[in-house]
Amino acid sequence: MFAFDTEKFPDGMGIPLKIAAIYAVAAGLWILFSDELLAWLANDPATLTRLSIVKGWFFVVITAVLLYLLVKRYITLLRYRDQHLQQAVQGVATATGEEFFASLVQQLASVLNADFVLVGELAGEDRGWVQTIAVYGDGQPQKNFTYELAGTPCEDVIGSSTRGCSYPSGLREKFPANHLFADMGMESFIGTPLCDSGGHPLGVISVLSRRPMKDLATAQALFRIFAVRAAAELERRQADEALREVAVKYRIVADNTYDWEFWTDPDGRFIYTSPSCQRLTGHPPADFISDPGLVDRLVHPDDRTLFAGHNHAMRSDSTMGEMEFRIVHPDGGIRWIHHVCQPVFDDDGTFLGRRGSNRDITGRKETEDALKAQFEQISTIFDSLNAIVCVADMENDTLLYLNHYGVSLFGQDWQGKTCSDVLRPGRQGGRTFCPTNRLVQDGEPQPPCVWEFQNSVTGRWYQCTDRAIRWPDGRLVRLEIAVDISERREMEGMKDEMISAVSHEMRTPLTAMLGFTEFMLENEVDADQRRAFLTTIHKESARLNELISNFLDLQQIKARQTTYRFRPVALPHLLRDAAALFAADYDRHRITVDCPFDLPPIQGDEKRLHQVLANLISNAVKYSPQGSHVALGARREGELVILWVKDEGMGIPLELQERIFDRFYRLDNTDRRLVGGAGLGLALVREIVSAHGGRVWVESTPGKGSTFYVSLPASRDGEVSSETP
Ligand code: ADP
Repeated sequence: MFAFDTEKFPDGMGIPLKIAAIYAVAAGLWILFSDELLAWLANDPATLTRLSIVKGWFFVVITAVLLYLLVKRYITLLRYRDQHLQQAVQGVATATGEEFFASLVQQLASVLNADFVLVGELAGEDRGWVQTIAVYGDGQPQKNFTYELAGTPCEDVIGSSTRGCSYPSGLREKFPANHLFADMGMESFIGTPLCDSGGHPLGVISVLSRRPMKDLATAQALFRIFAVRAAAELERRQADEALREVAVKYRIVADNTYDWEFWTDPDGRFIYTSPSCQRLTGHPPADFISDPGLVDRLVHPDDRTLFAGHNHAMRSDSTMGEMEFRIVHPDGGIRWIHHVCQPVFDDDGTFLGRRGSNRDITGRKETEDALKAQFEQISTIFDSLNAIVCVADMENDTLLYLNHYGVSLFGQDWQGKTCSDVLRPGRQGGRTFCPTNRLVQDGEPQPPCVWEFQNSVTGRWYQCTDRAIRWPDGRLVRLEIAVDISERREMEGMKDEMISAVSHEMRTPLTAMLGFTEFMLENEVDADQRRAFLTTIHKESARLNELISNFLDLQQIKARQTTYRFRPVALPHLLRDAAALFAADYDRHRITVDCPFDLPPIQGDEKRLHQVLANLISNAVKYSPQGSHVALGARREGELVILWVKDEGMGIPLELQERIFDRFYRLDNTDRRLVGGAGLGLALVREIVSAHGGRVWVESTPGKGSTFYVSLPASRDGEVSSETP
């Protein structure tokens, strides 16, 4: 069927064979008859020899000329074919889509000198039909048509895997039922299947001619060149069609949605965008389709890097992508967009492009910003509170917020930890105090829940107020405000202790006072007796007064209600005053003072420091035998001034030398119990000394005596006194 034009192509081996045969006959005849011809032309031997040489040369020249002409013609024809092929390949190289197929059939018809060329794709549910894409016949493009595959040579082509199939002659006889071939007078056929990348047939290229085909091998080689490109183009065209088909369905929905719906091709170019894009960007859909770079230009400069990164990822990533970015509207306004897109594949898994939507979230962002601003304001307030304020997830108790006060107590690394771990370490079932179902019922926040707990690490007590609040992301979370109530609890405990301890100590002097006054009221007593009784009553009243004063002072100091008046205090003067007070009251002891006059003053509250010394001397006197020596003294040690009160009393065991400074602690010793006291004096001493930035301690040997030391910072020269609460 491929009746290649002998004017244009070397006719395979036919022409060279003919030439060789003619040449052999002509040369044979020449050899046979040339000698006869020479004998007829000359008789003498010399002439004959010369003519013989001329004959030989003539034969060689004729042979050379013939060879030259033959090779020249062969090379010319080869060049011609190459040029033609190149022309054909170039003719289809730049074209795509419909243009490519139209060009292909025309070039094939021209190069193969065929009468009819078509490219068709398999169609129909069962792929039993061929729908032509481009047809070229009798020197011009023809209309497309559809034909049934069964009973045509194309059926054999499709069934031939990738090799194709040909009928070089006798086409009409082979397909007698095909009236078209008969009507058109077709004699030969060659076809090749067009297969996708998976090797499945998508369509066919068929070439028909009214003459028998002589050079099948060349025609097949030409087919191989075009078939691969045509198959790729057909695959692409079918992918486009599939995409367009889905896009049409999508478009019906997308056109009517409020969001900006879009569809892109595999290279990220818009194929479709819904009309909503105009509302969001001020540009109609056509602008986006005709100008692929428009979106990039509309994106807010601050979000461009993020946007470019997302687009890049989407090109290489076949998963769903999501991001938020800003668009600068031509009216100057900013629109926040929530962008979601996902890849689209056809049934065979070919990537068709991306489908996505852009939602205007400007309103939500503005609300979020307002909420954030509000939250920052509230945070500032929370941060200034001396209470722990935290927010935790209802489900897993993870901390979402902790104010500065909480951070200062529990550290910076609270993120990702649970509220229970940070606030209530070690507490088992900490949440049972205020379970979630107590805070939220039927999805609605309930009134606050108040409860108390003790932090097992710090030992501090907290009163918690828990309530469910709505977090900016919409979920319900637990807000907990934990106020440190350790001091309140301590005061309450102290009051209880006081009631039991003080009431006992109060009773002793009161009993004595009541007894003596009742006796004096009911009996006649002489002047000496009265004086002795009144002295006892006075002493007991003084004891009661000291007890109550110590207690009240301690309570005030603990509740931080005491005001210290710091001034330079001269120690020799302070020590002598305190000693003098006791020397008058306790003539049973020898009290001495050892204090250099050049001792620098200390910065302190004179009244309170006097109270310190008074308590220490009172104890020294109380817990040492009559007539013993009580020594007071002071000395400078570097930046410190050390005061001491030394007695020769019963002493204090080493293991209890710390405990005696605790409130209400008294050594359980019969001798001591006989001496009145509530165990408040040393506690008060310690509070006052620590308020002065100093320290108090005791060195003692049981049975030999004790020395109480107080170290205080020495006042620097010229320091101005100040009042400190
Ligand atoms: P109290 O009112 O009982 O004296 P303090 O707090 O002053 O309370 O003293 C606590 C306890 O320390 C006393 O009960 C006593 O047992 C012991 N103590 C205090 N000072 C001395 C001292 N100089 N010698 C021996 N024991 C002392």
